[in-house]
Amino acid sequence: MKISEIIKNQGKSLSFEFIPPNTPIGEGRLLERINRLNTFSPSFVSVTQHAGPNTLERTRRFVGKIHQDTALTVMPHITCADPGKTELASVIEHYKGLDVENILALRGDPEEYGTDAFDGKLHYCYAADLVKLIAGYNKFCIGVAVYPEGHPESSNLGIDTAHTKIKIGQGADFGITQMFFENFHYYQMMDRFLQDGIDIPVIAGIMPITDFQRVERYAELGGVELPIPLIAKFEELEDPYDVIQAGIDLATEQCMDLWENGVRCFHFYTFNRDEAVTKILDNLAPVFGINKSN
Ligand code: FAD
Repeated sequence: MKISEIIKNQGKSLSFEFIPPNTPIGEGRLLERINRLNTFSPSFVSVTQHAGPNTLERTRRFVGKIHQDTALTVMPHITCADPGKTELASVIEHYKGLDVENILALRGDPEEYGTDAFDGKLHYCYAADLVKLIAGYNKFCIGVAVYPEGHPESSNLGIDTAHTKIKIGQGADFGITQMFFENFHYYQMMDRFLQDGIDIPVIAGIMPITDFQRVERYAELGGVELPIPLIAKFEELEDPYDVIQAGIDLATEQCMDLWENGVRCFHFYTFNRDEAVTKILDNLAPVFGINKSN
């Protein structure tokens, strides 16, 4: 089912993001975790696609496996930073053949991130171009990335919003946010979108902190603010178990605040783990009306 229809019909959505494993054994293990998370009846799951050799293929294979082995709605990510136009067209055709109905269209970041690498390597410069290509198939519901604090390459938030609007103009149906840790960034982005006439559903991207150093690295790369009290709290934790527990508490509080402020669509960056997300959703289930199946 198309994600825009799920959101329209149900007024909410719950989704999980996974990274395609390198090996069949890894795929099998991840499928077990996905099946455990399936007890929360997610609206869809998504599979990332990163820069580097064979990455389109890896995503394609794992999407096929989820499609074949589960009843889940699966959304592949497609990035245009590395692959050429022919390769992109063939992967879109492949998903069309599989009857995949949703694609997350991204520019992506080339392997050697930096402006020079971009100038030399990009076949499509912006996600908007990929959205246009996918929309031409007249088949897919198209998601795009949105940035509560602005994309790090955008010189200001107004320009960032204008570029989001271009993606919608080319055919994007919904957005998923980059991680954020201060909810006011999400609320302010929604105000900007409203003022600019952007009315697609925007799913909140939630990053449970299970490895603080990794989140710090991603936050720095993505221009995401880590509040000083949050840094102080995680820096004093030495036991990895305490870090995971603090991450569960933090994400639970964040989601509760978003829910109280009317947000109904949540996308969890799982990093291929199910334990923390399971605990967060167990905490949220009574408020969110999630009926966990066995
Ligand atoms: P774009 O929308 O093209 O924007 C990139 C930058 O260019 C922005 O600063 C924008 O303001 C600017 N821009 C856009 N149009 C123009 C224009 N016409 N003129 C000048 N500037 C312009 N990365 C991966 O590699 N693989 C993944 O699977 C992946 N999944 C993601 C999932 C989510 C939910 C999110 C939020 C991000 C994901 N990313 C992924 C990261 C993403 O690819 C990077 O943030 C990337 O740097 C930008 O991608 P984009 O699609 O937002 O690009």
